[in-house]
Amino acid sequence: MGERSKTIIVIGGGAIGVCSAYYLHQKGYRVILLEKDTIAAGSSFGNAGFITPSHFIPLPSPGIIKKGLRWMLNPESPFYIKPRADRDLLSWLWKFRGYATSEHLHKTMRYLRDINLASRELYRKIAMETELDFGLQTLGLLMLYTTEVGAKECHEMATLAREIDEPAELLEPQQIRKLDPGLENRAAGGLYFPNDAHLNPAAFVTGLAEYLQKRGVEVYTGTPVTDFVIENHTVVGVKTPEKDYRCDEVILANGAWAPLLSKKLGIHLPIQPAKGYSVTIPQPTNPQKIPLILTEAKVAITPLGDSIRFGGTLELSGIDSQINPRRVNAILKAVPRYIGQFDQLQVDPMTAWSGMRPCTPDGLPIISRTSKISNLIIAAGHAMIGISLAPFTGELVARIVSGEASPSEIAPLRLERFA
Ligand SMILES: Cc1cc2nc3c(=O)[nH]c(=O)nc-3n(C[C@H](O)[C@H](O)[C@H](O)COP(=O)(O)OP(=O)(O)OC[C@H]3O[C@@H](n4cnc5c(N)ncnc54)[C@H](O)[C@@H]3O)c2cc1C
Repeated sequence: MGERSKTIIVIGGGAIGVCSAYYLHQKGYRVILLEKDTIAAGSSFGNAGFITPSHFIPLPSPGIIKKGLRWMLNPESPFYIKPRADRDLLSWLWKFRGYATSEHLHKTMRYLRDINLASRELYRKIAMETELDFGLQTLGLLMLYTTEVGAKECHEMATLAREIDEPAELLEPQQIRKLDPGLENRAAGGLYFPNDAHLNPAAFVTGLAEYLQKRGVEVYTGTPVTDFVIENHTVVGVKTPEKDYRCDEVILANGAWAPLLSKKLGIHLPIQPAKGYSVTIPQPTNPQKIPLILTEAKVAITPLGDSIRFGGTLELSGIDSQINPRRVNAILKAVPRYIGQFDQLQVDPMTAWSGMRPCTPDGLPIISRTSKISNLIIAAGHAMIGISLAPFTGELVARIVSGEASPSEIAPLRLERFA
């Protein structure tokens, strides 16, 4: 059988699955995408849509443990761990603690910036090649702060950005006004990252899936993969309630659910779901243009054409999409402390969207073959940067399948790093 007549099954119709399907299809493979629900039913739907060279600080960063413990005591804080005796969670937290060091930060930050930047370029190419409009704009990202603590955090980030030559500008209130005249700023200052971009994540993922389907990618929604057919350490098929699908390679791209399926193959994935919320409302008449992060509150604000989205919170509460109205309200309450357009935000918190970020303990995704199964590639664990890194991941997955990826580019993302 010729290499390019291989059948590749992609499990999961989120940003990572759809981008993997895009690049595999480009290489001429037969691609089948299986999604248990609808396309973008997971965390790829209502997230903030940031493409972030600015997110070069991994989730386990120095000082995060102390901050996390303090946040745990406040029911309106942006962070929470649901207390439970779960061995996987405890082992994940132990590993996370080990990575929350200055050494890990300095080892990772340039790499994280580089892969986010590479992905931003791939987004531009996808927009050109497909002619899809998913609201891609490179207007940068502005972090606003209101307190001394927030100012210190932004100043430290600016120093780290300089270390890796990432442009970052500390701004006074009058400079913020000039940068985005639609923004009624109340913050004491800000830090602006001009290289960042943003898009409408649901429009991107659903648009690309439709584009692929029109070009011969077989997309089956409402089709949960329940198990695998294994022969000689090789997956020869995947099982769904309706039927089995034969394949030559499998891409596990089902986000926060990946560890549940990988267990069927005897593979442990150190990925914990971290729930977040968002609320999307119409933009006011004089709209702001630049996406924001409210530094102390850890809230993201994304202008999306006629709408604007407020997102935040990171809850390690397992696979659980329930809304906690108190934390949604905390997101909404934070907004008027920084900007003036939304003093009268009247939103029922129970109408918020929730999604689960698939988080690894070191803040990098797993894009990797495994030693147990010869033809499986894991593409999961993208935490807060899965939209940002989706094209980078999809392109790398396709080159791992074709054998073109070099060992050095795969090394930082291999599953074995957690062994
Ligand atoms: C509030 C919030 C804000 C965020 N903001 C940003 C941001 O600004 N920028 C950014 O880069 N990232 C952001 N993220 C993170 C981003 O949303 C995720 O990293 C990304 O969506 C992960 O994509 P994924 O394809 O791996 O997972 P998902 O989008 O969750 O997709 C996985 C898919 O697999 C399907 N599935 C699961 N099990 C099976 C099965 N057995 N068979 C078939 N299908 C299955 C699910 O239904 C789902 O559709 C944010 C997340 C949240 C919660």
